[in-house]
Amino acid sequence: MELNEIMELDKKYFVNTFGNRTPVCFEYGKGINLWSTDGKKYTDLFAGIAVSALGHSHPKLVEAIKTQAEKFIHCSNLYYVEPQAKLAKALVENSCADKVFFSNSGAEANEAAIKLARIYFKKKGMPEKYEIITLEKSFHGRTLATIAATGQDKYQKPYCPLTPSFTSVPANDLEALKKAINSNTCAVMLEPIQGEGGINLISPEYMKGVRELCDKEGIFLILDEVQSGLGRTGKLFAYQHFDIEPDIFTLAKALGGGFPIGAMCAKDHVAAAFEPGDHGSTFGGNPLACAVGLAVMDTMINEKLVENSAKIGDYFIEQLNKLKEKYSFISEIRGKGLMIGIEVNNGKAKELVTACFENGYLVGNVGPGVMRVLPPLIVTKEDVDGFIKAFDSILTKFAN
Ligand SMILES: *Cc1c(COP(=O)(O)O)cnc(C)c1O
Repeated sequence: MELNEIMELDKKYFVNTFGNRTPVCFEYGKGINLWSTDGKKYTDLFAGIAVSALGHSHPKLVEAIKTQAEKFIHCSNLYYVEPQAKLAKALVENSCADKVFFSNSGAEANEAAIKLARIYFKKKGMPEKYEIITLEKSFHGRTLATIAATGQDKYQKPYCPLTPSFTSVPANDLEALKKAINSNTCAVMLEPIQGEGGINLISPEYMKGVRELCDKEGIFLILDEVQSGLGRTGKLFAYQHFDIEPDIFTLAKALGGGFPIGAMCAKDHVAAAFEPGDHGSTFGGNPLACAVGLAVMDTMINEKLVENSAKIGDYFIEQLNKLKEKYSFISEIRGKGLMIGIEVNNGKAKELVTACFENGYLVGNVGPGVMRVLPPLIVTKEDVDGFIKAFDSILTKFAN
């Protein structure tokens, strides 16, 4: 099908939630590359918003899908599911969690985390503890509870009244958090690095302070690692940068390498609050999704992709900092591993993303001020060099 025909169908039949999309339709991918229906090759430095961690059509991923699909795809959680048990084991063995619940998306994993924090205190005879404190500029998903958790007006306003009992405070301000915690608080929930908010770092002192406050108050620390988790920041989980452990953390994006799956991971004492019938999911943790998740985890570990993320991430940030020296409208390069933000003070982040696209590079932006680079974890030094060279000449055109 020609691109313009696809665009016509989309306009006529698809709800217009995504507006004028980038005018391209991809036909196939391999590794870091995607090819469009008109035969043009792109280098994907966005990984479908931090999802395609293994790149496109990784043989191990394709094999896992084929093998499981040929056996069977779904059976429901009324029965024991082998890939589900194995993936839960892999996540527990590689993290601070003791138990896992699988969902189909990040928002749903966060819903499970929110429900777990609340039910815990209900069962402890403290039903008044149901409030959750989140951070401004956060993003926790698009369901009604998770937009209430998301500290950004633009996601909340159209859907008021919001699900009650969420408040947000400025990031990296321990005093503000102290003031916000009260006898109704059951948890603090935050992203170790804010993704959709513009790649905003959480300071180590703040994270440590939040952990100590939560311990002192007897409330939970929930980390939303939907974007930062699974190698993205140069560690398997971003909390590992901070020398702390959350009580609950959530995953999704990279877990299926493009196949939809999310996870809520918790310490035993918290997880025990979910008893039979308290939570559930029809699709969550189905054999196919979990077989894929297992292949992603195995590949990430066997191919040392987390190490690659740390190494190439450092190199990428170093090279971007050289460009920052050269172009005064680049005000900051921030991030960790392969979760990188390029802040510009000319308000042209979107135009820069378009220029990169026209030069065969897929990157993203957050509003007019920040470009985002979230490459697949298989990205090489040569890929980075190629981009830096192209980006340098794009930046020249924006300098004046
Ligand atoms: C993307 C994202 C979500 C939402 O995930 P969905 O799969 O779109 O529901 C939640 N939290 C964070 C930090 C995210 O980046």
